[in-house]
Amino acid sequence: MKYGFELNHFQVTEDQLKPNQFLADILIKHNLNYQAIDRIAKKATDIFDVRNLRANKPYTILTRDSTQGADYFIYEPNVYRYVIYDLKKESVEVVERPIETKIAEASGVVETSLWNTMVDNGLSYDLTARMEDALAWTVDFHHIQKGDRFKLVFEQNYIDGAPAGVGEIKAALYESGPTDFYAIRYENDRHNGFYDLEGRSMEKAFLKAPVKYSRISSRYNGRGRFHPILKRRKAHLGTDYAAPRGTPIFAVADGRVTKRSRTRGNGNFVKIKHDDVYQTQYLHMSKFAQGVHVGTHVKQGQVIGYVGSTGLATGPHVCFRFWKNGKQVNHLKENLPPPEPMPESERPQYLLVKDEMKNRLDHIPYPDASKVELSVSEEAGEIGEEKEKLGNP
Ligand SMILES: [Zn+2]
Repeated sequence: MKYGFELNHFQVTEDQLKPNQFLADILIKHNLNYQAIDRIAKKATDIFDVRNLRANKPYTILTRDSTQGADYFIYEPNVYRYVIYDLKKESVEVVERPIETKIAEASGVVETSLWNTMVDNGLSYDLTARMEDALAWTVDFHHIQKGDRFKLVFEQNYIDGAPAGVGEIKAALYESGPTDFYAIRYENDRHNGFYDLEGRSMEKAFLKAPVKYSRISSRYNGRGRFHPILKRRKAHLGTDYAAPRGTPIFAVADGRVTKRSRTRGNGNFVKIKHDDVYQTQYLHMSKFAQGVHVGTHVKQGQVIGYVGSTGLATGPHVCFRFWKNGKQVNHLKENLPPPEPMPESERPQYLLVKDEMKNRLDHIPYPDASKVELSVSEEAGEIGEEKEKLGNP
């Protein structure tokens, strides 16, 4: 059985589309005429336009009787769905494959970088990004150290029994030195996000950094450092994040753009006023994001520009400057305003989820250094059961 058909009733042709190959090129060879192919293509436009067929994607042709022409052309745009072109009935249908979600666990010890640790051990890019998102407000991922450890409980999707991407992170623990950072996902009709063990939202007013997957190339230094271009000592009143040219730069907090300008030193830069106390500034952009002007209201995480090396810069980076009451300060040393606590009425329900998830995290063993363990627990069952067990509404 494949695509809902009993394959041994058919002659089966499996192949991949070649560059510049059209549906007609293929079907003509399977005894269909141009008029029929044209009618099918027209019917398909609103369902799955044949112009969206892409090279290197797999297709299957099913034929009952080769003298009568092929019966079905089946195309797979991705693992999540396939398209059946019924060549006899001249109809088209997109079939979504059922996704089975199981709860999986992973843990790891950082050897060189978080990315290397995750990817070298078969954990996806996507899972790493989701962990960063869950902890973006509390863990400084630009300052992770050898020996840092993490544990994750997350949704692993399966299609036909094969892993097919990750879903939400349910809980995360990141241990850096003596500090444990827990993030527990909690959602209902009023809340949706990550919370700490006391039920405070992880989503603080300010993100730790204005770019993802970068490294700090120069730290804040109020006393001065040797400037490679000016060739003299100069205080560095910002934090430099090196990232490839074109990497999106986002606003670290909600606010209003007060400057969008270019100077010889700063290059293209944006300055944002967040409230009466805090402002942030982002230098050396290759270009500004569309729609960002003086007066624009931006949201936390909104892209405001792209990494470049305009102004006095030796390579692509963003120089991030953090202003408090009109003075530049080191944002990594600031105690930023805490988030609103969860209402008392909500806490008991949250604490049930938290206890279950924390217990689960605490029972995941750590592997030897630099090894990441991944397991899908059999007893966990499907996500629906899991939610019931947790008492989610
Ligand atoms: Zn700088």
